[in-house]
Amino acid sequence: MKKNTIVEKEFLHPQEDNLETLLNKTALLQKQLKANNHLNPKFPSDTFLYKKELEKSYMPETGINTEEVFTSLSEMFEGSIRPQSPYSLFNMVPSPLLDTVAATTMTQLYNSNSLMDAFGGKTILFEQRITRAIGRLVGWDQSYGISCNGGKLTLLYAIKSAISKIAPESRREGIPKDLVVLTNEGAHYCVEHVCSILGLGANQCIRIGTKEDWRMDIDKLKQVIYEQLAKGKRIAAIVCCGGTTINFACDDTNEVYQCVEQVFKETNQTYFPYFHLDSVIGWLWFNFMGLSEKEWEQRVENPEIRFKIKRAAQKMEGVSRFDSFGVDMHKNGLCPYSTSFFISKTDECFNRLNEGTYTYGENDYEFGNFRAYRYTVENSRPATGIAAAWVAMNRLGKTGYQEYLVRLHTLSLLFKKEIENLSGVSVINTASLGWEIVFTISFNRIRLHYSDFDPSEIAKTFIQYCWNETNKGREIPLISIVPEFKVNPEDRMKIAFLLYPMYLFSEDKTGEIISKLASCIYEFEMKVISGEIVIENRLLEKPIR
Ligand SMILES: *Cc1c(COP(=O)(O)O)cnc(C)c1O
Repeated sequence: MKKNTIVEKEFLHPQEDNLETLLNKTALLQKQLKANNHLNPKFPSDTFLYKKELEKSYMPETGINTEEVFTSLSEMFEGSIRPQSPYSLFNMVPSPLLDTVAATTMTQLYNSNSLMDAFGGKTILFEQRITRAIGRLVGWDQSYGISCNGGKLTLLYAIKSAISKIAPESRREGIPKDLVVLTNEGAHYCVEHVCSILGLGANQCIRIGTKEDWRMDIDKLKQVIYEQLAKGKRIAAIVCCGGTTINFACDDTNEVYQCVEQVFKETNQTYFPYFHLDSVIGWLWFNFMGLSEKEWEQRVENPEIRFKIKRAAQKMEGVSRFDSFGVDMHKNGLCPYSTSFFISKTDECFNRLNEGTYTYGENDYEFGNFRAYRYTVENSRPATGIAAAWVAMNRLGKTGYQEYLVRLHTLSLLFKKEIENLSGVSVINTASLGWEIVFTISFNRIRLHYSDFDPSEIAKTFIQYCWNETNKGREIPLISIVPEFKVNPEDRMKIAFLLYPMYLFSEDKTGEIISKLASCIYEFEMKVISGEIVIENRLLEKPIR
């Protein structure tokens, strides 16, 4: 029987004189990844079946050496996106700053656990420094917060805080039956799931209809509040949108707040709802808040881009009156997954989030006493997000983040210009305050031959063709599809394509990238006409609600 013993060289020495081993191991693993050193947007991958694959999965009887394990591990990366590729245009996925990756690696090397000071050293202090600094962007000078595993958890913390605010006894007794959560119809699909996980039930989340710019329609909001109050319901939370990946759904935060304030005064309510802004995307705009007119003109030279950034920042200004907001630095903060923060205006969140027997007081803020596990979802908790956020925010600063957003918009304009030069391709989301590009393709060559083909079936077959090709490792644009796109809330839904410019250093490659898209369209059309590709009904996954 082959024997494998764990040897000393597998560990960091106590004197820490062999860190190079880690770098070498990382390089060794990277070399095993197939088809790197190219510009393909995905590591190549074959199709596979879960059930069949899992039949072969056992704990190995004996261990094998590093190189063999890394070879097998490299398969894990197959089919995953390479955000460093200029052809990676699938979604808001950044290529993280190397400094952030170095920092997160260090928290893992030293196995930092941010559950409490006694384990994590100053990790929780840094977590609070970050959340205080971000809170100050919107004028909060007593903010606290929680580093967490994604934007969905920022919503979970917000809605849990809301339930606890309106029904403090719920922390020990369970949730009352009369609570509802109101949000914008364009809000992220996970809000219902969060309500479900928290025990409210997905049906207690009510979406409010919106105006042409996807901000909540105040009249509809009022109507829903009156209806719910008449039914004997209590409004636990208002979750406003602070930007979304498509259409940049963003509420006019002051307008919503004032509307709710007025209705609650008029109806003599004895409570007031908890307000959260889902700004996991919009937080980046907070870096522009408080600029003078002259500074706006200096920092954002292009008037079109300035108009968009300014409008979004204005809509979110009312966040200072809210109770909390969310931040996803793994989306537009140049950090790796997961770097998210729930930011609370005050330290009340700590008491609202715990199970109700503990009360946070002065002593908890002394070094050595902070115990995050009392209010966090996790017990043991990585410090990767804390390290990454600290590095990114200090490497960039406010002006760095301002420049980053301006450059994303600039890149988007370059792409837009190239796309508009293609015949049969039209950009349809020019009013969005975000930098995403949504477009349609006419597939005229196909429709000339087969006028009875359903345009949406052609679109779905096309995207599948593109995805199959990128899975083979081809250097072609990896774009996405929006099965039910609407420019305005009142529009008819149509199928469209999504191109998300994220990699800043593709500024001089946009022409090349879009000409490859044109080739893909041509190639696809020829294959359909020749019968090599068959258009058939395909079901695309729709967001779950
Ligand atoms: C991405 C997103 C979420 C969910 O965030 P994760 O980091 O994927 O958990 C929630 N709300 C909005 C507006 C988002 O864009």
